[in-house]
Amino acid sequence: MAKYLFITGGVVSSLGKGLTAASIGQILINRGLTIRMQKMDPYLNIDPGTMSPFQHGEVYVTDDGTETDLDLGHYERFTNQPTSHKSNYTAGSIYWNVLQKERRGDYLGATIQMIPHITDEIKSCIHSLDEEDVDIIICEMGGTVGDIEGLTFLEAIRQIGLEEGPENVMYIHLTYVPYIQAAGEVKTKPTQQSVAKLREIGILPHVLICRTEVPLTDEVLNKLSLFSNVPLQAVIEERDVAHTIYELPLVLAKQKLDDLILSNFELTRPPAQLEQWQNIVNNIIEPKGKIRIGVVGKYSELQDAYKSIFEAIHHGGIAHKHTIETIKIPAEELEEGKQVEAFNNIEGILVPGGFGARGIEGKINAIKIARENGIPFLGICLGLQCAIIEFARHGCALKNANTTEANQETPHPVVCLMEEQEEVVDLGGTMRLGSWPCVIEQNSKTATAYGTLKIHERHRHRYEVNNKYRSVLEEKGLLFSGLSPDSKLVEIMELKDHPWFIATQFHPEFKSTPLHPHPLFKAFVGAAIERHSCNKQISV
Ligand code: GLN
Repeated sequence: MAKYLFITGGVVSSLGKGLTAASIGQILINRGLTIRMQKMDPYLNIDPGTMSPFQHGEVYVTDDGTETDLDLGHYERFTNQPTSHKSNYTAGSIYWNVLQKERRGDYLGATIQMIPHITDEIKSCIHSLDEEDVDIIICEMGGTVGDIEGLTFLEAIRQIGLEEGPENVMYIHLTYVPYIQAAGEVKTKPTQQSVAKLREIGILPHVLICRTEVPLTDEVLNKLSLFSNVPLQAVIEERDVAHTIYELPLVLAKQKLDDLILSNFELTRPPAQLEQWQNIVNNIIEPKGKIRIGVVGKYSELQDAYKSIFEAIHHGGIAHKHTIETIKIPAEELEEGKQVEAFNNIEGILVPGGFGARGIEGKINAIKIARENGIPFLGICLGLQCAIIEFARHGCALKNANTTEANQETPHPVVCLMEEQEEVVDLGGTMRLGSWPCVIEQNSKTATAYGTLKIHERHRHRYEVNNKYRSVLEEKGLLFSGLSPDSKLVEIMELKDHPWFIATQFHPEFKSTPLHPHPLFKAFVGAAIERHSCNKQISV
């Protein structure tokens, strides 16, 4: 029987609850425990797949093809273990299940209510992770304590506390302790009120993790302990980390958070083995060099829209003990050749995934610069599709070649809707999603990067390279270096006559972790470092 560790958030959002949960997962794995991680999101969308990056940041895709919250990316990056559809539920998906059961008559005529029907459904989703050999389920509650939409979730986890008993359930509350500049001091009142709100529901936190920008004095820690009824040693300071988010497990382990958790659950395990993790952090803090990589996207102003991409680039840097400065280049500003000087002193160009016509021409211009100047290039999903369009237009003289996503009337639809997508009407969960096999061409840079010819990668797209144009593109020097096992779908392309130019229809960034940097990101960063050492400049 698994134990349950619930993580709630107080005072404000954006405190880094997902990172904290992921860090706790990391430390517990290093104590030899088997864990599962889960995120509950109290909004009404069935999943974040249909939400705009402006609203929600990146949509993270699991192996089993679920479109999920970006916190699951943190979970996988910190714990090195895959998540699944059981790792992310929304209020919308919970209500959907309950209402379907109601329609089927499963409730035998009962009046369907928040308690017990919605709360029971939430509990069964949480219990679904209680598989054989699982020691601890870490369940993060999305939102902030006090939100109306989060109430049923808090009620459900309160009930689990009662049902499973105190040695099997633990509540950790992540809170914010603000520093008020004008007063020159930190304030504990928001935390006091947030904990009071939790206690009103019947949840008494065992641990307080306090997000702060300044060190907390003993006086403040004592006050937080007294007013929140949390033992002093369980009031943990989580100050902004100096160098990298990957320091966080070390910060929490130093304050013995893992000991607190194990003793609460009456578990004994050897001390955490954090040397490997410490090495990663050391490599980040003391790099051998620094390079710059430009990311040409249409949400350049948004920190979270390309979360896994930025992380994977940094993992590539970790593999070479290099710091990577990522330069966000807004795709639209590159249209009509504006802003090309943005590429000066850049050693690599990455074009990420995306949807719709906005920004496509700018991405194509960026790819032209990469191709003509021998700048290492990595294209992902729409990035591959734009690379195909660029090569068709400028390398094969297919004038106005395009994807039908941007222009239905193009004379050369080199990228078009996949056959199986033609009848699809619903937007949610209907793309080609999740992990699919791919076979790699032996004599290719792709094969050198992967070191293997059979891979599985995660997808999220509706459009594909149009097979009718494959031969003309190949004749002019493009290599389809990865195909689906039946050869019907292009998965990877590269350019033969270029130092390093690879693009993928899938999303390699979802499988990259600091302990296991993704081979393509590692090779891409390697090529960029190589270019840096040759001190090459572009000519545009
Ligand atoms: N819009 C493109 C498609 O649906 C690319 C998707 C993506 O980049 N994730 O195929």
